[in-house]
Amino acid sequence: MPTFVIQEKCDGCKGQDKTACMYICPNDLMYLDKDRMKALNQEPEQCWECYSCVKICPQQAIEGRPYADFVPLGGTSIPMRSSDSIMWTIKFRDGKVKRFKFPIRTTPEGSIKPFEGKPAVSDADLDSPLLFTEIGQTLKTIAK
Ligand code: SF4
Ligand code: SF4
Repeated sequence: MPTFVIQEKCDGCKGQDKTACMYICPNDLMYLDKDRMKALNQEPEQCWECYSCVKICPQQAIEGRPYADFVPLGGTSIPMRSSDSIMWTIKFRDGKVKRFKFPIRTTPEGSIKPFEGKPAVSDADLDSPLLFTEIGQTLKTIAK
């Protein structure tokens, strides 16, 4: 089921131009109603239930019906993310609550250098049918 915003909990990310849920949604589905300062999923039928908005919302204001393989129908699953772990609160329909905490990374946030050791690229590479990593491999092969 697509995600939905619990209006009472959403604070519009305190009036920022681009809210956390708008920033993270890979399908550009989240929309901020600036008159009410409340977000909403503007095209629920396009939501692929990736849960990214659910995990990033600082107010825990976004919910999606969890998959039945980890929460029985009628339950809720709300994440709370920190810089190194995520805690899932699972509420079953009989009111029982369970919490599961998992590590999400082993390095400090912002410490990854994704382009370190990769070859420099130029605008001309945009015309190449190769992917960036393939360009790197091709340069190494030529250098041998
Ligand atoms: S991230 Fe959460 S609090 Fe921020 S606008 Fe979206 S739903 Fe509201
Ligand atoms: S679950 Fe994924 S696709 Fe759906 S609104 Fe949230 S971020 Fe977008």
